[in-house]
Amino acid sequence: MSVGIITVGNELLTGFIDDTNAAWLGRELTRIGLAPVWHLTIGDQVGAIQSALESIPDNTDDVIFTGGLGPTHDDITLRTISDYYNINLEFDELYWQELRARFERAGRVISEINRNQAVLPQGQTIIPNPIGSARGAIITKAQKRLFILPGVPPEMKAMYSASVVPLIKSALLPATVEVIRTTGIMESALAEKMGQIHNQYPTVTMAYLPRIIGVDIRLIGSDYGAVNKLKSHIQALVGKYIYGYGATDLEEVVGKILKDRGLTIATAESCTGGLIGHRLTEVPGSSDYLLGGIIAYSNAVKSEILGVKEETLIKYGAVSEETAIEMAEGVRKCLNSDIGVSTTGIAGPGGGTVTKPVGLVYCGFASEQGVRVRKFHFHFNRKMNKRLSSQVALNMIRLELENA
Ligand code: ATP
Ligand code: MG
Repeated sequence: MSVGIITVGNELLTGFIDDTNAAWLGRELTRIGLAPVWHLTIGDQVGAIQSALESIPDNTDDVIFTGGLGPTHDDITLRTISDYYNINLEFDELYWQELRARFERAGRVISEINRNQAVLPQGQTIIPNPIGSARGAIITKAQKRLFILPGVPPEMKAMYSASVVPLIKSALLPATVEVIRTTGIMESALAEKMGQIHNQYPTVTMAYLPRIIGVDIRLIGSDYGAVNKLKSHIQALVGKYIYGYGATDLEEVVGKILKDRGLTIATAESCTGGLIGHRLTEVPGSSDYLLGGIIAYSNAVKSEILGVKEETLIKYGAVSEETAIEMAEGVRKCLNSDIGVSTTGIAGPGGGTVTKPVGLVYCGFASEQGVRVRKFHFHFNRKMNKRLSSQVALNMIRLELENA
């Protein structure tokens, strides 16, 4: 069984929207053991759709289309595919009445152009749309099945899961996909530590997925045991850099540790401008442990609110180990939390000196046990330096608490 994907939409080609449908379908198909063998993106033109149909390889059994099922002039996918295979389109009066009633119930008047959405290819199977008005279709021609779905992601996903999966589920073993998330180590250093271990697990495909804030290691294989063994092997080699698995973010991991330990936290952020607080509050239930934060951007706020000593600021400067320490201690005291975390640094592009270059960041961590500070030096642009600073601060909280 071999599957291909065709996503239709001018906006995908021009880059105005990202083709998340293809990515999502790729992941979902891989999960059930049917990784797509090709993927094509085309514009909303009759000629483009015809050429795409012509180019479908003989050995492809199933093709999933998304996009162009709406009511407007540029929604031509179903009509064009039907014409190509000489399939008549019939008007479904019953569905049209149903659509009309649905609109009325929502207090809206249906437009005549919505009639487009009540046509169906004669003799083919309709894919119901549980969320929207555009129905899909399954066209079976030349020993191939074409699954035609709308472009709107939630509708596409619901229809794929309800109507496509049950038909294409193969006898193949579903793939196990494991994502191991690391931070605090560069891709090359990580690869060096791992050596050639992937060679010992020939049935598992291993990939490094580097991002600014960390490197994910993705394992895919249909032999669950082998994937798990490689995972344990990786844990043994680089465990201290691993903060989570799957789609878990660092802020969730930190939140869970704080919650499990019954600890509260407060932030004193200079160069991150509230980003740590933002990330912590992305996690539902964060009010259990996050008391609040102070964006201490100016020296006045650092000293007057957080209590950083004037002499510290004069002697060592705002971007210094000493200031980071006093900020973390200060916010802990000011907000009466168990933990205080701080950042102070030079995000750039300006403001750097020879002794204090752009990208220099200090993070402080204060708790009952005392205070710790770490120094970092990043080499990215302002936005990335800020993001990375929030990552190292969160990771510092994780490491301090895990090792406490
Ligand atoms: P509609 O009834 O809204 O017209 P449709 O089936 O005709 O739906 P399109 O017109 O192609 O679908 O796309 C509708 C919207 O769905 C787009 O504006 C876009 O936001 C989103 N969309 C379409 N294709 C994709 C895709 N491949 N990936 C992500 N989003 C998509
Ligand atoms: Mg449309």
